[in-house]
Amino acid sequence: MTELNLASGASYFRSPDIAITAATNALNAGLTYYGPAEGTAGLRQALVERYQQDGITIKPEQVLVTPGTKQALFNLFSVLLRDGDEVVIPTPAWFGFNELLKYSKGKLVTVPTTLEDNYSLDVETLRNKLTTKSRLLLLTNPANPTGRIYSKHELETIVALLKDYPDLYLISDEIYDLDTYGNPVTSALSCEGADERIIVVNGFSKNFAMSGWRIGYMVAPEEVIKQSTDFQSNTFSGVSMFIQEAALATITHKSESLKPMLEVLQEHRQVMLQGLEAIPHVSFYVPDGAYYFFPYLGHYIGTTTPTGATINSTEELCNYLQNEYKLIVVNGDKFGGIGHVRMSFAVERQVLDQAMSRLKEALLQLKPAPATIGKL
Ligand code: PMP
Repeated sequence: MTELNLASGASYFRSPDIAITAATNALNAGLTYYGPAEGTAGLRQALVERYQQDGITIKPEQVLVTPGTKQALFNLFSVLLRDGDEVVIPTPAWFGFNELLKYSKGKLVTVPTTLEDNYSLDVETLRNKLTTKSRLLLLTNPANPTGRIYSKHELETIVALLKDYPDLYLISDEIYDLDTYGNPVTSALSCEGADERIIVVNGFSKNFAMSGWRIGYMVAPEEVIKQSTDFQSNTFSGVSMFIQEAALATITHKSESLKPMLEVLQEHRQVMLQGLEAIPHVSFYVPDGAYYFFPYLGHYIGTTTPTGATINSTEELCNYLQNEYKLIVVNGDKFGGIGHVRMSFAVERQVLDQAMSRLKEALLQLKPAPATIGKL
C-alpha cells in the first residue's frame, strides 16, 4: 500500500516558472549581496500596487518584506508584546501561532467557534474575552484549517471593537487570500482605521506554491514597520535579493501563475467534498478559501477496529488511518477542533482519489463499541 499524505501545509504545485526564471536571472546578474532589510524598493512598490488593485491605498513605508509569513508574525510578536500581554485568537486556528508564542511574551487566549455555527465569530463572545491586557487580536482569513472567509461586514464589526481597546492591534493573517472558490477575501486593510492599528501579514508560500523560498510580508502602520525592520535587520537581515526578484515577478504577473493552480484546486475541492459526502456520520464546512477540509469524525471515536482495539481519541483515529491504511491527515485537536482532522486537497489527483476511498473504507470498518458487560 502506498502512503497517501494529506497532511502537508504546502501544495503539490511547482513554483511558478516566472519565479524560477526571475531568480535564476538575478543570480546570474550577481544579486547575491545583502539587500535592504525592509525589502527592495521594487517589491515594496509592487505590493503597494497589489493592494491598489483592490482599492486599498498604502505607502511603501508601510510594507516590510520578511523571510516568510511566520517571520512577519514573529517580528510582530517580538516588538509588540510586553510582559503579561494577551493574544486573542479565534479557534480552530493554525497551531503555529501557539508555537511561535512560546518564544514571545504573549499569552494565548482562545475564542472557540463551532462547525454548528459555521465557524462564525460571535462578537459578544469575543468582547467578553478582551481585557486591558489584550494586545493582539489575530484572525486568519481565509482560515487554516476551516477555510472560512470573514465577510466585510463581519470584519468591520470586529474592527469596531478596536475603538474600545486603545492598546489592541488587529493582525489579519491573509496568507491564503488568493486561494478562494467564490467570494474574494476582503483584506482587513480595507477597513476604517487601517492606518492606525490594523496589520496584515501575507506571503508567497500558499498562494504561489513557494513555501521553500521563505518570503512573506507585512503591511502595518509606519511606526510598527520601523520597529519590525529594526528587529529584522538585527536578527535575520533582509530576504535574499534574488528571492525578492522572484517574488516581484510573481506578484506583478499574479493572475497567470494563479489561474492554473486555482482551476485544479477548484476541481479537487469538489472531489474531496463528494468523497466526504459519501461517508456516513461525517459533517464539515465547505471551505470558501485555502485548500483544506476540516471534517468532524467524532462519531468514529469510541468505536472498535477490526482487530478489537478501541479508538479513544482523535489521535488514535489518526494513528489507525496511518497505521492500517497509510493515510496521513492532521489531528484537528492541534487546531482546537477536537474530533476533527485536517485534510489538504492541494495534492495530486490520484492521491486524492485514493485517499478518499481509503478514508471511507477505513471508517466503515469501525464498529460501535460493544456495550460493557457486567458493569457494576
Ligand atoms: N500563517 C498560516 C495561517 C499558515 O498556515 C502558515 C503556514 N502553514 C503560515 C502563516 C506560515 O507561512 P510561511 O511559509 O510564509 O512562513
